[in-house]
Amino acid sequence: MATRIDGKTLAAKVKAQVAEEAAKLPRQPGLAVVLVGEDPASQVYVRGKEADCGGCAIRSFPYRLPAETTQRELLDLIEKLNRDPAVDGILVQLPLPEPLEEAAVIAAIAPEKDVDCFHPFNVGELMIGEKGFYPCTPASVMRLLAEYGVELSGKSCVIVGRSNIVGKPLAMLMLRENATVTICHTKTEYLKKECSRADILISAAGQAGLITGDMVKEGAVVVDVAVNRRADGTLCGDVVFEEAAGRASYITPVPGGVGPLTRAMLMKNTLYAAVIHGK
Ligand code: NAP
Repeated sequence: MATRIDGKTLAAKVKAQVAEEAAKLPRQPGLAVVLVGEDPASQVYVRGKEADCGGCAIRSFPYRLPAETTQRELLDLIEKLNRDPAVDGILVQLPLPEPLEEAAVIAAIAPEKDVDCFHPFNVGELMIGEKGFYPCTPASVMRLLAEYGVELSGKSCVIVGRSNIVGKPLAMLMLRENATVTICHTKTEYLKKECSRADILISAAGQAGLITGDMVKEGAVVVDVAVNRRADGTLCGDVVFEEAAGRASYITPVPGGVGPLTRAMLMKNTLYAAVIHGK
């Protein structure tokens, strides 16, 4: 039976470290959290991020804007936050309501305040291999693997999902650690064959039940990034947990795996931004 990777405990440890480091800075780090519209899931995420700030000695600056906010109004706010010395990080909760253009909004955030690491400049730095911001979810996966001593060099890593926020940047981070990376998606012809040869199998598809036990190589490390909601309201990942746990060496649960640490990584990035600004 696989060892369960505990993201919750590690997240608490990372947040405590951030709080300790933040308290040593001459000025309290600040994170602006911008929410446009009333999307219930986004409201929950934003509240969680603001609560995390409170626990990490980071000041949060909440901005709640109506769904009718124009592109110009949102860009004006971002420009104001870019100039505000008390704001180290700017987070615009996605998705934005239509017709707001996400790409233009992300590009307007000053790269040194882009704590989500979505700005094209930071994405480029990640690709080149420069040190800088790491996107929170891929950083969470890497930190979990490191914490449990999972060897990546020379290993076969298969990632299911090619989004800009998870699959693609995670592939870059895995490549940096000398893994041999395969990215799968909906057009992948033989998903089961690709997955079943993975030493490290990471699923970020958002499809409950996609990864069954027979797709997991004996002894593989399985990381489930997805968060799906069942009909009864409970959460699950892409992986059929009991089946996969019977074959894997390590496995992340959903909830309690990648998710909590993702939030902690946002705090870490805000601290990093504050340290850069202090220099
Ligand atoms: P996304 O933008 O919808 O991307 C999903 C990716 O999975 C796409 O590349 C898609 O392929 C691929 N995919 C979907 N169904 C597939 C299938 N049946 N076979 C093979 N590939 C398939 O989603 P995302 O934003 O990356 O998020 C992915 C999941 O992770 C979601 O459940 C989300 O809630 C979760 N998530 C969790 C965290 C966390 O911190 N735990 C953070 C972010 C996201 P195509 O490109 O071909 O469409």
